[in-house]
Amino acid sequence: MREHRLGDIIDDFCVKCKRVMNHAIVSLLGAEPAKVRCRTCYGDHDYRREQPPPPKVDPRKQALFNEVLAKVDPAAEAVVSAEPTPVAAPEKKPRRKAAK
Ligand SMILES: [Zn+2]
Repeated sequence: MREHRLGDIIDDFCVKCKRVMNHAIVSLLGAEPAKVRCRTCYGDHDYRREQPPPPKVDPRKQALFNEVLAKVDPAAEAVVSAEPTPVAAPEKKPRRKAAK
């Protein structure tokens, strides 16, 4: 097993660069890296073992996805819509000027 030391360069997923980048270890927890710093954007974050964070679900995209899924397999809809998706994101609608 490879030993990690402060300042070591390791691969990890950077949430700012949205990809696996070189990171320097800035904090250790036992033998495991606890915090790393991206060598590209210099952002510090917890070491995430090269795992990207779960994607944020866009309610509108989710609705569209459910719609498509329902057409493909009607039985699958019940499973997906089991979790209530609160519509919290304010929608930006293009302003229409009243034509007179
Ligand atoms: Zn980065």
